[in-house]
Amino acid sequence: MIGQLKDEVRLLVQDYLSDPLSGRGIKALREQGRLHEAACAWAALALRGQRVLLTGQQAKLDLAADHAEGKWVNVGLTLAPAGEASWAFAGRFTMCPKASPGCMRTCVGNRGQGRAKKDGGAMDHGYVARCGRTIALAFDRPRFKQLLESEVRRAAYDAAYDGAKLAVRPDVASDEQRLAAFLASLRGKFDNITVPVATIYGYTADPECLEWDDGVHRILSRKENNDADVMAALASGHSVAVVFDAKKGALPTRWRGYPVIDGDVHDLWFLRLDGPTVVGLSLKGRRLEKAMARAKGFAVAPETNNNPTAEAVA
Ligand code: SF4
Repeated sequence: MIGQLKDEVRLLVQDYLSDPLSGRGIKALREQGRLHEAACAWAALALRGQRVLLTGQQAKLDLAADHAEGKWVNVGLTLAPAGEASWAFAGRFTMCPKASPGCMRTCVGNRGQGRAKKDGGAMDHGYVARCGRTIALAFDRPRFKQLLESEVRRAAYDAAYDGAKLAVRPDVASDEQRLAAFLASLRGKFDNITVPVATIYGYTADPECLEWDDGVHRILSRKENNDADVMAALASGHSVAVVFDAKKGALPTRWRGYPVIDGDVHDLWFLRLDGPTVVGLSLKGRRLEKAMARAKGFAVAPETNNNPTAEAVA
């Protein structure tokens, strides 16, 4: 994480920690359009253990149980993408140092997508929760990690009780890879007390993170500005995620010579990788977002260049 919370944000969270707002109070702030205050109040409730950090509500995570090999429960941590929470921070701030203009337009965590169905599709609810989690993390990282650990532990128990395995994606809408490494490091701890383990996985735009030997399943996200990194990752045996300008179910079977699997089916691609693989995703979002993603080169045409040695390596 880059940057520190602004003093006024820190003071407000502190205030809400000692005198918390109820969920209804936060809703009232949202309805008045006071979203930054609502996010600070949300962060305080989270740090008091009165808000859930992990969610299984995001559309992609919901799909795991029905389609994956075996029975899986898929949960994720949705922080604020890129600079969405920058208003709360002093100086330069981003949760995604390698984000591109194209990916920011179509990010699952931004205001165009990721609306909670149970909230009637209201976008502010998700915005407040994403910013609230991010502020909580910056306000008290050790406490945040402690809460996250206990949620993962509980989720692993619950999944095991139902005869399922747990997969956790800590980077649903950020590139915060240190939390993923932290959760993966708990594996030994969980094993010691015979608690079922969780599989930690995610997507990153930082090729260096692919080399971390921390037990996290990671693939590199292709963007309009990292083609060379993507081809280098594939050539060295890693897998990548590519957004195709195609409808769901109409993804190509190969891209630049590498096999493509359908990443829209569910998010548990780590079960299906066989050597360097392209996890294909169809372009999503509203018309304008899709048009921007095409124009910027974030989404690639399915038929473009199936030759692994051509253009992108240059
Ligand atoms: S890097 Fe990933 S999480 Fe961050 S803005 Fe881009 S798509 Fe969203």
